[in-house]
Amino acid sequence: MYVKGVGPARAAMLEAKGLKIVEDLLSYAPFRYEDRSNVKQIGALAPGEMATVLAEVRTTRLSGFRRRGLGMFEATFTDPSGGVLAGKWFHGGYLNDILAPGQRIALFGKVEYDSYSRGLAMMHPEFEILSSDDDRDSSLHTGRVVPVYEAAGKVNTRVFRSLIHRVLESLPPQNDPLPPHVLKQMKLPDRWTAIRGLHFPPPDSDLRLLNSFRSPAQFRLIFEEFFWLECGLELKRARARLDPGIGFQLTDRVRERIKQMLPFKPTGAQKRVLAEIAHDMAAPHPMYRLLQGDVGSGKTLVAAEAAIIAIENGFQVAVLAPTEILAAQHYFYFKKLFQRLGYTTILLTGSSTAREKTQLKKLVAAGLAKVVIGTHALLEADVEFAKLGLAVVDEQHRFGVEQRQKLLEKGAHPDVLVMTATPIPRTLALTVYGDLDVSVIDEMPPGRKPIITKHVEDSRVEQVYSFLRKHIDQGSQAYVVYPVIEESETQAMKAAQKMHEHLSRIVFPDLAVGLLHGKLSSDEKESAMERFQRGESKILVATTVIEVGVDVPNATVMVIEQAERFGLAQLHQLRGRVGRGAEQSYCILVTEKLNPAASERIRTLVESNDGFYISEMDMKLRGPGEFFGTRQSGLPALHIGNILRDPDILEIARNEAAAFVAHPPQESDLRRAIEFIRDHWQRRYGLVQVG
Ligand code: ADP
Ligand code: MG
Repeated sequence: MYVKGVGPARAAMLEAKGLKIVEDLLSYAPFRYEDRSNVKQIGALAPGEMATVLAEVRTTRLSGFRRRGLGMFEATFTDPSGGVLAGKWFHGGYLNDILAPGQRIALFGKVEYDSYSRGLAMMHPEFEILSSDDDRDSSLHTGRVVPVYEAAGKVNTRVFRSLIHRVLESLPPQNDPLPPHVLKQMKLPDRWTAIRGLHFPPPDSDLRLLNSFRSPAQFRLIFEEFFWLECGLELKRARARLDPGIGFQLTDRVRERIKQMLPFKPTGAQKRVLAEIAHDMAAPHPMYRLLQGDVGSGKTLVAAEAAIIAIENGFQVAVLAPTEILAAQHYFYFKKLFQRLGYTTILLTGSSTAREKTQLKKLVAAGLAKVVIGTHALLEADVEFAKLGLAVVDEQHRFGVEQRQKLLEKGAHPDVLVMTATPIPRTLALTVYGDLDVSVIDEMPPGRKPIITKHVEDSRVEQVYSFLRKHIDQGSQAYVVYPVIEESETQAMKAAQKMHEHLSRIVFPDLAVGLLHGKLSSDEKESAMERFQRGESKILVATTVIEVGVDVPNATVMVIEQAERFGLAQLHQLRGRVGRGAEQSYCILVTEKLNPAASERIRTLVESNDGFYISEMDMKLRGPGEFFGTRQSGLPALHIGNILRDPDILEIARNEAAAFVAHPPQESDLRRAIEFIRDHWQRRYGLVQVG
């Protein structure tokens, strides 16, 4: 970065923050603004006002627990008016190394009357130490609405302010890259004005707007960032749609077969998304579609319908699931649905024996197995399909993009349907899962009653048992679940085993209590699940292996032990194992040790059954990076836009971008946009093939 004042040391610190070129510096947005327009001399200060003071440090003092960095730090300041101002910081031990008599300083805060010193003081004022060469541009730091930047190493907010000011002074005004008709239609300030306004807001700026990132300048820059992002995604999506693919025929026979399979009338939402999927499948280009829907909304049924389209056209279908239990569940579900149609459905997982695997693979290679369900084992190189036409990937967030790619390579441009039960708002989904189109099931099958969720402390677990007893006596079944945290399956297994023993011997000696955990062989897992499915066992004690996919409508009570240790999405998924029949269902969250974050999660679940709301809360509590998993999502690092803070602007930008790419006023506008994206995005977004 060639900017005066940036030597190698500073350059390294800036680079560590991702600030490599001048353009990065200009788009480094302040995270907050302060109104320092009220600059006063100490002698003119009045209690109660917010003011900025330019003064000299006279004395400093640390009292209290010096060694632990606690205690109170006090300093006094003077200025040419002759007045004295005190500053006080509780837990201010760290300031002992920062403030020293003789320094010139800008202080900003609320003026108060301090009865101890019988004078004026500021409690915890913001401050900046001024150096002599700051005097030249001290007007940058005070006397105006001032931007506050996150520090990068030793490059503090004041240095940022000076550097950015210097860059703005030295650069000639630049062309606005946004298409002129968008600028005009949206009444946006031009880019140059916006950049200046971002860093040095004009004197009449509204501080509240600035601090909520909605000043005209901020809006324009956020919009612009989203606009390019969405244009890029739209172009990428459009390009992928041009690849050759399979055009499946939607004949009467296909429709007849689907009808024959359906065990119930599809909901309106299921019909709508099937129409979207069928439309994609009929087109001679590959489908890349994300199917979003809450747990239990009937996604799997839609996937089965899509599978019929492929199979009746002479193709095979692969279903990729993240866990063995879920794969087994899908296997049972599809097998049952497809029995009448005479399709061969097989299950291929890591725990199949070598001999089984060899045989199964032969069936796949010969094209005899029509539906091939499995875990990662499906991705192994020696699994060869005769004619793969449709790949269904369940639970998107657990698979990386590369894994999806591996599956695709097993066919010649097969169609892809990704299912996720962690639904997020549509615009966000289109952005985060950039290369996918999005279908949403926003309606539950009829007759579902919202699950009643209760929070119970561990000490009252006896009440939970009598609740369980009551419901089982009425003919229901129940789950009792233990958390698995990361690699602690062994620990969870032990807890589940202990609980299983306790429940089956002492609490419910007269009932059949099943046990299911990840360390069982797949035969044992299957038989435990089948016994529960057939109603032979009344209670199933399990680790979170049942998290996704188990489908036993007669189970109406879900007890989650140590619920404080689960994530929000996981709890919601688990809860979705009940409430699958017409009976009222219950979810009981038992907690041992609650911290504030866990309380927030529990409260969210007790309050709501809505998967969209819960995903949004989850995203807010964990942050988008962790929520999506950085590896999986193509979400680029945004400079100023924030998908959680600015969903409204994201929506507007997406609509504008889609309209622009579909109908540019002139071809040359689009060409210029593509060039701009190529030049400016390659580095940031890693979008290699735009347009
Ligand atoms: P998801 O995969 O979205 O979690 P499933 O496809 O497993 O949901 O469906 C959940 C339950 O609802 C299953 O028992 C399924 O058979 C049932 N179901 C699905 N669609 C309907 C419908 N239209 N009417 C009644 N029940 C349905
Ligand atoms: Mg499902």
